[in-house]
Amino acid sequence: MTAKIIDGRKISEFYRAEYKLRVDRLIELGLRPGLAVIIVGDDAASQVYVRNKAKACESIGMHSEVHALSAATTQSELLVWVDKLNLNPDIHGILVQLPLPMHIDDRAIIEAIHPAKDVDGFHYANMGALVIDESPFPPCTPYGVMKMLEYEGVGIEGKYAVVVGRSNIVGKPQAMLLLKAGATVTVCHSKTKNLAGFTRDADILVAAVGRANMITGSMVKPGAVVIDVGINRLPDGKLTGDVDFASVSEVASLITPVPGGVGPMTITMLLGNTLRAAERLAGLVETASETLFA
Ligand code: NDP
Repeated sequence: MTAKIIDGRKISEFYRAEYKLRVDRLIELGLRPGLAVIIVGDDAASQVYVRNKAKACESIGMHSEVHALSAATTQSELLVWVDKLNLNPDIHGILVQLPLPMHIDDRAIIEAIHPAKDVDGFHYANMGALVIDESPFPPCTPYGVMKMLEYEGVGIEGKYAVVVGRSNIVGKPQAMLLLKAGATVTVCHSKTKNLAGFTRDADILVAAVGRANMITGSMVKPGAVVIDVGINRLPDGKLTGDVDFASVSEVASLITPVPGGVGPMTITMLLGNTLRAAERLAGLVETASETLFA
């Protein structure tokens, strides 16, 4: 079997076209959705991510602003920035680019963002809502994975899903979203014994580890849907995922590439979450195609 490739760029375009219509509708009502991104320090990769987020906002008519602060910014100074943005009526979404410098407590900053503007979905209030009920802002990467599965018509209910990785930003929320959609879910991590024993049974396998090509064809069930969240830079500068694309695409039925898979969807879901934050403020009902779980 040669797997069909899930084209994250094409799926992103599909959702962005719909978001653009909704942005236009809000602008007609006198409200331009706005995203503020704060970046602290000069990490080159983070700066590229932040620029891409700003460009994506503008491409669908949303307002975006980037606040680039020096690496010497203190936690109190950063809290003042967050407060200002919390109170700014032109800003509907606030994103603080992680990781922050060591002298700043990430959690203290995330908790300072107003939950109604927490478009990354990392605030305890929104994470709690994700577990108990439904978050208005599901974390962008796992949400993007769900939207890809939905777009490809992958049925989730009754399937066995294995998520490799248990981080707060990807693995754990991914498991919750799959569970909510009716899958039976196992979460594997660095202490899991016999990883392949789990992955080989998975109908849906999501790899979010950060280890180049660690999931090989022999670890995958024939016909499985394989989603590669990992982004790893090889010594030659090329990007690769956690999934060994060559061997796994011989076994899986559907597979995401890296780059061009989950990455574009993450930014698209950030747009969706910011738009939703603005629509909630305007008291608008979500459109049917924007329901969180199909
Ligand atoms: P973290 O480093 O926070 O988490 C990695 C997880 O992988 C941990 O839970 C860790 O287990 C687990 N792990 C490590 N080694 C193994 C192993 N040998 N076997 C099984 N599990 C293992 O990373 P993130 O969740 O933030 O990101 C994961 C990957 O996804 C990275 O490559 C990152 O760059 C990428 N990413 C991509 C995004 C996109 O838009 N495409 C967005 C966000 C991240 P333990 O908890 O026990 O340490």
